[in-house]
Amino acid sequence: MARLVMKFGGTSVADIDRIRNVARHVKREVDAGHDVAVVVSAMSGTTNQLVGWCEAALKSRQIFDAREYDAVVATGEQITSGLLAITLQDMDINARSWQGWQLPILTSDAHASARILDINGEEIVKRFRERNEVAVIAGFQGLHKETGRITTLGRGGSDTSAVAIAAAIKADRCDIYTDVDGVYTTDPRVVPRARRLEKIAFEEMLELASLGAKVMQVRSVELGMVHRVRIFVRSSFDRPEDIDPHGTPPGTLICDEDEIMEQQTVTGIAFSRDEAQISVRQVDDKPGVAAAIFIPLADANINVDMIVQNVSADGKTTDLTFTVPAADYQRALDVVTKAKPAIGYKRLDSATDVAKISVIGIGMRSHAGVAAQAFRALSERAVNIRAITTSEIKFSLLIDAAFTELAVRTLHSLYDLDQASA
Ligand code: ADP
Ligand code: ASP
Ligand code: MG
Repeated sequence: MARLVMKFGGTSVADIDRIRNVARHVKREVDAGHDVAVVVSAMSGTTNQLVGWCEAALKSRQIFDAREYDAVVATGEQITSGLLAITLQDMDINARSWQGWQLPILTSDAHASARILDINGEEIVKRFRERNEVAVIAGFQGLHKETGRITTLGRGGSDTSAVAIAAAIKADRCDIYTDVDGVYTTDPRVVPRARRLEKIAFEEMLELASLGAKVMQVRSVELGMVHRVRIFVRSSFDRPEDIDPHGTPPGTLICDEDEIMEQQTVTGIAFSRDEAQISVRQVDDKPGVAAAIFIPLADANINVDMIVQNVSADGKTTDLTFTVPAADYQRALDVVTKAKPAIGYKRLDSATDVAKISVIGIGMRSHAGVAAQAFRALSERAVNIRAITTSEIKFSLLIDAAFTELAVRTLHSLYDLDQASA
């Protein structure tokens, strides 16, 4: 007998039929004798609609009060938790829904992107023992203790709820049921030849997630790594009755690096079109200029990602290029324009039709020349590289957005990631 967390994302609970299918998956584990805590997302499309309503409600202000945004967007998960509990009860399974504030799941007060601080899992565990009761927990939401207000964890946050609950109740495993049957070498919807990974190391998953693969929210992977939660990504679309209760279903285990026997140099490729590039032209090549640009951006809470500074040709002026999230693009331009007297540049150039392609693999630590191969392969396809960053286990390239798919497919083949049979 094991203790399991089962998390179901938006498409997996998209309608009543799907919710029933989820309930059958839960029943399968309950019948096998396991204690189960389920974490559910909102029905697919619901959170987008709720966010849209918040935006539509504003007429004269630029941004809404994040506390009220959270009050609205947290409701999606409340619906699915109740519906799944009803469905489970209808199948004669003892089940009870829990909202974030009821357990409670305590978070910071960073509304719309709150961090989980503490979860009280005692009541759930007590009910496993005393009533054989399944806990159905609304993902994505929590409570800020001091203010007593509902918070949410950022888009995709139900993954984080699930992993945090698994850590809190010391679950043997956290199963992430989604609309693909595991973590692939790249997004299988963009590259049909992408291959499912049997295992992926926490560090690699962390890079994949933070560089654009939305299959797991970044913070959920961080939490899994810190608390050593075994995370298994699998499909909710398999028929529950087809699953062998004693076998291992298709899926990907996110685990420690040491558990992976055969390590390839490159494990996966992520990409993101949510980037914008800003180039500050002809700034004085002297100490303090970078600080004059980046301190105001940091003060405005804008995350700068790639930074490239050209070597000055004339010894006097240089160009500095950097990227920011597309959502912060306008604000970043405003900040840099306002700081012009302190920076002292001639011109600002910018582009939003850019994409960042990232190649990830722990094996890169011990292999030289991995990025160089990519530069050649992309140049042969006339893909221009605007900026490059590297770190121990990844490198990222900024290119024109129009070439995203071509670049991802090219690199996917280059590093032998294509499925053999496709
Ligand atoms: P859920 O609603 O279950 O949380 P998401 O839509 O958040 O599901 O995440 C699953 C999606 O992530 C997949 O449908 C897939 O298109 C996308 N994805 C991006 N990169 C990858 C990858 N490397 N492996 C698997 N899926 C990926
Ligand atoms: N419903 C939330 C979202 O769409 C959280 C989640 O699904 O994980 O972002
Ligand atoms: Mg998700």
